[in-house]
Parts: sequence; structure tokens; C-alpha cells
Amino acid sequence: MIMRTRRAALAAIAASASLAMTLSACGQSSEGGSDEKGGTSNKGATIGISMPTKSSERWIADGKNVVKDLEAKGYKTKLVYAEDEPDQQVSQIENMITQGVKALIIASIDNKSLNNVVQQAKDANIPVISYDRLILGTKNVDYYASFDNEKVGELQGSYIAEKLGLKDGSKKGPFNIELFAGSNDDNNTKYFFGGAMKVLQPYIDSKKLVIKSGQTELTQVTTLRWDGATAQRRMDDILTGTYKSGRVDAVLSPYDGISIGIISALKSDGYGSGSKPLPVITGQDAEKASVKSIKSGQQTQTVFKDIRKLAKVATNMVDSVLNGKKPEVNDEKTYDNGVKVVPAYLLQPVSVDKGNWQKEIVDSGYYQAGDLK
Ligand code: BGC
Repeated sequence: MIMRTRRAALAAIAASASLAMTLSACGQSSEGGSDEKGGTSNKGATIGISMPTKSSERWIADGKNVVKDLEAKGYKTKLVYAEDEPDQQVSQIENMITQGVKALIIASIDNKSLNNVVQQAKDANIPVISYDRLILGTKNVDYYASFDNEKVGELQGSYIAEKLGLKDGSKKGPFNIELFAGSNDDNNTKYFFGGAMKVLQPYIDSKKLVIKSGQTELTQVTTLRWDGATAQRRMDDILTGTYKSGRVDAVLSPYDGISIGIISALKSDGYGSGSKPLPVITGQDAEKASVKSIKSGQQTQTVFKDIRKLAKVATNMVDSVLNGKKPEVNDEKTYDNGVKVVPAYLLQPVSVDKGNWQKEIVDSGYYQAGDLK
């Protein structure tokens, strides 16, 4: 009896092996099956894409770009958004793992909440690409596709120093500046803020720039989930609490949605009309509302990051890994996630203001001129 069962089992194994060989010989190996080199073929596999929120234009565009590029490479996709809720992001990724995705591209909400779920991905042999924002505290993130995030901050800080006339020494100040930073659970926040402060700190030390509110530390100036309304309330409080006399000359803002909130608070306080011009105010992402604001002389600057290129980098990484090749990287030292230095490909950000938005944003085809009317 036992003998017969074993023999039957062996026969079944032999039959399925020969079927697999036949399929691969015909070049029809099924999803995740063996290919002719004995490796794993992922042709037509589904790739999971986890994005943080639809509340900001850029992530909607990121999702679309990544899907388009993966489909062009012959993959299927599953794209999900987590409404800026870390727990929702975790369960969405768990679902995609259960559904059998062959790789994951993740832009995290909370950089530390994903450790368990990326361990599950690892256990299921699913490579993980950190998209734009690095996942911290785990060995289970394979590659990082992003921009030079410190440079983003440097561009914002330099722009302020230049616009106020501090850089070329044409003005000595003192000027009043207020600082805003991004969400404290986003790893990029400290790079943006650090890059800006690298430029601004010497002027603060020499009293050419004064932070009148006294809110100078990163922990005092972060904006949970990059929320514009939260930034607006903080700016309101600063204006009523600190600027009964004197004016704000510059605001370091890390992101366009935050800049729009800050501008609303400033306008409610009478800035932007007559004798009270708006301060120099930075931003990031070249969102349409902010490019329009720059055109009309309200927001002063933004940092443009061509996310079409970011999608290409991330999807090339997926394609390489799934084909057993090493993805192209250009930085293997900067992004230490606390457990390992994650090999990264970093793109270059560009400072955009009234002088170059046309060239950078419209002539490059990123937006149509009509989008910005
Ligand atoms: C991104 C920025 C974006 C911000 C808010 C950051 O992680 O790098 O481009 O402005 O999140 O969404």
C-alpha cells in the first residue's frame, strides 16, 4: 500500500516536471515558472505599487507614471493609495503579498511602520523598492529610487539667501525668517531641513537672519503628514504671537501644499497688498496651484522634481531585479536606514521661479501651458 502510494507520488512529480519542461521549451513558462535557463521567469507578473495619498497631485501622477512604465515593460500592476494612514498602508501591502505580486514599489507614509510587512515580502521572496521615501530600520528593502533630497533643501535655502541679497552681500539684514519642515515620520524631512539649514545657519549665527518666533529646532517646526491646513494654523499663531511689530521677510517651506497654507495665513494678516509685500517663500513639487501662484507673484520659488524620471528609475530597478540583473545605482553611501546602506539611484532637483518655470515645466512637457492658466 505504502509502496503504491509512493510510486504514484513519484509518477505525479515526474509528470509535472515534464509538463514544466514542455512549457518552457515552447517559451510559455507560466507566471513565476522556470525558464529555459533554469531561472525564474516573471514575464507578465503583477507588480504591487503602494502610494501614500491622493491628497497631493504628485502622488497621483507618480502612480500613473509607474503603472504606465511597468505596462510598457510587459507587467501587470496593482496600484493602491492609503489616504495617509500608516495602518491602511500596511494592510494594503499585506493584501498584495497574499495576491502574489512579484515585486513591490512602496512610497511609505510612516518610515518605521512597514518593518513587519516588508519581512513578509522577504519571506515570500518579493523584492522591495523604496520609492522617493526610504523605509527605515529593516534589511528588507532592496533598492531606493529618489532625488538628491539634501540638495532639495540646499536649493530652498540658497534661494532665500540669494533673494534677500545676503549671498552677494548687497544687503546685510537683519531679516526675519520663519522655518517650516515636513512630516516627522518621513525620512526625507531631515534631509530637506538639513540641506536648507546648511545654507541658512551661518546667516542665523551672524544675526543677518533672525527667527523671531524662537522656533528653531526641527522638532518645533515639523508639519504632520505635510498638511497645508496644519501649516496655515501654525503660521497664524506665529503672526499673532510674534509679529505685532516687524514683518516676516522669508519663510522656508518644504512643500507646495504647505506653502499655499502659509500664504493664506499671511494674506489674512494683510500681506500681499500695498505696503506689506509677501515674504520670499519656497516650496517643492511644482504642483499646478503653486506654479500658478509663482506666475502671479505670490509663492516665490518651488523645487521641481521630474517624477517621470523617478518612475523610470524605479520600474527599471524592478525589471532588472526580476531578470536577475543588478539595477543601475549612483549612490551607495548616503542612505543608511539604520540597518543597512540602501543602494540608491538619485535624480537631480531643479529650483524654479518666475524666471524659468516656462523652460523647466512647460517646455519640458511636464505640464501644458493651458494647465497653468
Ligand atoms: C516628497 C516630496 C513631497 C512630500 C509631501 C516627500 O517625501 O519627497 O516631494 O512634497 O513628501 O508629499
